[in-house]
Amino acid sequence: MGLKKVKRLVVKVGSSTLTYESGKLNHRNMERIVRVLSDIMNSGIEVVLVSSGAQAAGFGRLGLREKPKELRLKQATASVGQGALMYIYEKYFGEYGYPVGQILLNRSDVEEQCRRQNLQNTFEALIEFGAVPIVNENDSVAVEEILIGDNDTLSATVACLVGADLLVILSDIDGLYDSDPRLNPQARFIDRVEDIDSLEASISGAGSNRGTGGMITKIQAARMAVSCGVDTIVTRGDTPELLYDILEGKPVGTLFVAKNCRTGNDVKNG
Ligand code: GLU
Repeated sequence: MGLKKVKRLVVKVGSSTLTYESGKLNHRNMERIVRVLSDIMNSGIEVVLVSSGAQAAGFGRLGLREKPKELRLKQATASVGQGALMYIYEKYFGEYGYPVGQILLNRSDVEEQCRRQNLQNTFEALIEFGAVPIVNENDSVAVEEILIGDNDTLSATVACLVGADLLVILSDIDGLYDSDPRLNPQARFIDRVEDIDSLEASISGAGSNRGTGGMITKIQAARMAVSCGVDTIVTRGDTPELLYDILEGKPVGTLFVAKNCRTGNDVKNG
């Protein structure tokens, strides 16, 4: 069975797609992603973008060789990189006629009912305006206790919050394998996961060192999204045109099939 018709789409893009190892922005990927998302919005689908890359772009912008480890330096790096990313998103989306709205959040913003409601209202208003909500963790003020921690989980949280029909996690790998294909050439690709709870705990897959997510966080994110009724696909980010195939129901990446427990209003009323 294919995907249900998608009206609202959440797309997550990782640091390794948005930046080079040097911490410089990958304009080729960013431009293609923005172009495809703009075109998808032109077709009438609502899009929310969850974008990593603040820390990765920040260390590049500050001329550092790698992401710093000390908290205050990480926070400062993220604040520089977040600005750099939004500047480029505003420029590229602007070229296609779409304004962007930045939403930075932490765990408490979704856990506390009143803040959660405010957040939902902001998303709905941005979408109503025809703007693209661009979401990241508020890394420049975040400490361990209030962090969601990785943007895979953040994207699932957002997909549930906005009642998306589909979450697509664009990654530096084409989907889920039964072992890490970079280490094991015999690794088997898994194109569809009907029952995420029965996935082997041993399934693994490394990510790059620029983001914080690997395959484990993607599986955890998919588990969260499917349990609130959001189909989730993990696929590669360097070919964003794959999103067209996905929306046409063609098999791309790994599809985690949503559990059929949501009644439209459940999530929105949260
Ligand atoms: N929020 C982090 C950033 O923008 C990324 C976290 C992640 O890669 O999962 O730098």
